[in-house]
Amino acid sequence: MALKKIMLEEEEVPKKWYNILPDLPRPLPPFIDPQTREPGGGIAPKIFPKEILIQEFSQNRWIDIPEEVLEVYKIWRPTPLIRAIRLEKALRTPARIYYKYEGVSPTGSHKPNTAVAQAYYNMKEGIARLATETGAGQWGSALAFGCMVFGLKSTIYMVKVSYNQKPYRRIMMECFGANVYPSPSDKTEAGRKILKEDPENPGSLGIAISEAVEDALVNEDTNYAIGSVFNHVLMHQTVVGLEAKKQMEMVEDYPDIVIGCIGGGSSFSGLFWPFYYDKVSKKAPKELEILAVEPTACPSITKGEYTYDHGDTARITPLVPMYTLGHDFIPPPIHAGGLRYHGKAPTLCLLNYTGDVKTVAYNQVEVFEAARLFIQTEGIIPAPEPAHAIKAVIDEALKCKESGEDKVILFNLCGHGYFDMQAYSDFLSGKLLPYEYPAEKVKEAMEKLKKLYPWLEEVKRKYIGA
Ligand SMILES: *Cc1c(COP(=O)(O)O)cnc(C)c1O
Repeated sequence: MALKKIMLEEEEVPKKWYNILPDLPRPLPPFIDPQTREPGGGIAPKIFPKEILIQEFSQNRWIDIPEEVLEVYKIWRPTPLIRAIRLEKALRTPARIYYKYEGVSPTGSHKPNTAVAQAYYNMKEGIARLATETGAGQWGSALAFGCMVFGLKSTIYMVKVSYNQKPYRRIMMECFGANVYPSPSDKTEAGRKILKEDPENPGSLGIAISEAVEDALVNEDTNYAIGSVFNHVLMHQTVVGLEAKKQMEMVEDYPDIVIGCIGGGSSFSGLFWPFYYDKVSKKAPKELEILAVEPTACPSITKGEYTYDHGDTARITPLVPMYTLGHDFIPPPIHAGGLRYHGKAPTLCLLNYTGDVKTVAYNQVEVFEAARLFIQTEGIIPAPEPAHAIKAVIDEALKCKESGEDKVILFNLCGHGYFDMQAYSDFLSGKLLPYEYPAEKVKEAMEKLKKLYPWLEEVKRKYIGA
């Protein structure tokens, strides 16, 4: 009898995070300071605690999880690994499908895995408050939770349209004790400047990042925290994959394919890195396929260019080596708010470039169709982001049906969709559109970037080698 829910004991929560940097197929290209055109971290030392900066560039493969962080993890960890038996049956596939369910966390996604750790290190270094941005509210609620646990204040700049349209995430943050401001706000120079020019500005993630970073730069007792893309964030998420590996061992199975959605790439990296480590250390019992899924509306990897670009619209961050759609990319209004970032994590981009990770893109209509089948078989309503992974899982399982292969598919169900009922309502009433981001627009953005930094090709050749 196959187990449906594969559970670990509390003391089996991993005690170390896995860091992929020493195991990458080639060294990660550095950040570039656009002023000097040389490697440099820009403002990072002024807005992050020392321990986070050490972790960001560490070449140590294993990093101890502090005892205090482990204690908080145990509020919801270990999380279940679930065999999708009913979905398998509905598809009549010989494939075995497993999912790691991160929706059981206090905020309903994987994000507290890093928020708690970041709040802890800031608290240890005497910081009183953290500032951050949030779009739909997943990251803001995770950071507000982490700050609450370690007695820090939190200030969340929430993109104004979401603040007005999605009040429940804001209320959740306020329950955790956060101050939430609609961005652009009158709390920062950056916000005031935009409001003066355009009082009706609906806000964007880029603007909200500028406000949160300014808050951290101006106030001595305040730091900034980020929810994805950076190495330290992805590393904190490896508790997901390390647990999943133990759980697969319990049922004597091992994945042929690991699948996840990618916004910045943290939840998926958290799942696949430990399996990638098996592969590079020649411990994997099988050839491993790693498959990332992005929306056709925001196709950073499938349509973007591997180059250097800013992480934010206001160009505050250094130049980051990544696949990008251009830093002033304006995302079409798709419901997967967490998948609307113009770039992706540098490690994930490198692994795509070397062919170790493959990426596919789906439009939101086919994605919600897949989510509906998942809901009606497994009973859990997924967030629109992991619904992208579910679409890829179903396609892979159907390929197995055709070929008769009994592949093992593992994916990250990185969040539930119980705050996303408007998205499901729009889907059910046929209002969703299958957005495709035009290749032409990517080309325009890349030309603009090269005009802005005429030396970009040279820097790219030198550090990326492409
Ligand atoms: C934030 C978020 C994402 C996208 O971010 P990643 O860093 O790629 O994981 C995906 N799913 C959910 C549920 C999120 O909250």
